[in-house]
Amino acid sequence: MKAAASKLAFDNGGAFILDTRREVEQYLSRGSTRVKGAVLLYVKAPIALALTVISWTVLMFFQPGLFLAPLCLVGLVLGAMLTAFCVQHDANHGAYFQKRRYNHLVGWSTDALLGFSSYAWRVKHNVAHHTYTNVDGFDDDATQVPLARFTPSQPSRPWYRFQQYYIWPMYLLMGLRWQLVGDLAAFRRGTIGESALRPPRGWTLFGVIAGKAFFITWAIVIPLLVYPWWAVLGAYVFFTMITSLIMATTFQLAHCVEEASFASADELRGERRIWAVHEVETTVDFCPRNRVLTWMLGGLNFQIEHHLFPRIPHTHYPKIAEIVRRNCDKHGVRYSFHPSLGRALRSHFLHLRAMGRLGLPPEIEMG
Ligand SMILES: [Zn+2]
Repeated sequence: MKAAASKLAFDNGGAFILDTRREVEQYLSRGSTRVKGAVLLYVKAPIALALTVISWTVLMFFQPGLFLAPLCLVGLVLGAMLTAFCVQHDANHGAYFQKRRYNHLVGWSTDALLGFSSYAWRVKHNVAHHTYTNVDGFDDDATQVPLARFTPSQPSRPWYRFQQYYIWPMYLLMGLRWQLVGDLAAFRRGTIGESALRPPRGWTLFGVIAGKAFFITWAIVIPLLVYPWWAVLGAYVFFTMITSLIMATTFQLAHCVEEASFASADELRGERRIWAVHEVETTVDFCPRNRVLTWMLGGLNFQIEHHLFPRIPHTHYPKIAEIVRRNCDKHGVRYSFHPSLGRALRSHFLHLRAMGRLGLPPEIEMG
């Protein structure tokens, strides 16, 4: 299996990415651009942490009433969202600091506050998803068979015809799956997609175990000392489901839409592609003018730019998008974006519907 992964290779060069990289370097080297971007990135971590700590402290020590308690729960969800999109994502990509060790330390917020392993995430997201974007079987995000079909090369099943409806409860449940069994199953398998996941050792193993213990302690054990079990269970399931839905939808709107292209391993072996062009054409931006959403999602509505420059802080993406768009025009690379959230959601729905019908008998496919 790993031999198959090693045979999948892209061309790393090409005029498009060389021109784009040069212009991005010029932009970053102007005045205090880098410092400003870093400050705007760093300021999000204390906001995310404060939201989480204040909401949790009020819930645990002040036992708020029926009005304030749900508000605290929303605060916990917001804190988790900011941690996921604006802190751990950049840190685990190495965009936070120069030193890998410090990036991994901040990236450990995934284990501590979101409940899943940052070590496994780096293989699932940085390696499997970022290297083999939308490649069936290699990109774990694009491979959910036999539950759902996201790419044309995956075989059809009768139940996929309804996937545009049942996908939403699936997104709700994905977080619970990763927290409870996903990490452990991946460690036992030793692979994510076709990418190797080595068993954690030393400090990494300590980080995995300590992260799980820390998360279970603040999310379940201490709340059980204060509230009845059903209230703790309800709050935990609500917290995990909502963060899971928002995370899954954000990533899916960037890759699992009508305008994104998909590939099978055979197609890539038959025709060697330029990696940067593959990344742009398998990814779609959304809401590029929405500053609030851009801030909240850690620039993940600019996923094209993120896939080309994952080690640059997300606070630079709106500016980098202008450079990428210009160079896509110049080099004939297809650049797609949805101007609104509604259009992006509609495109995701229509793509799921089309994939669900593809390959069924014609009378069903047309229906
Ligand atoms: Zn990423």
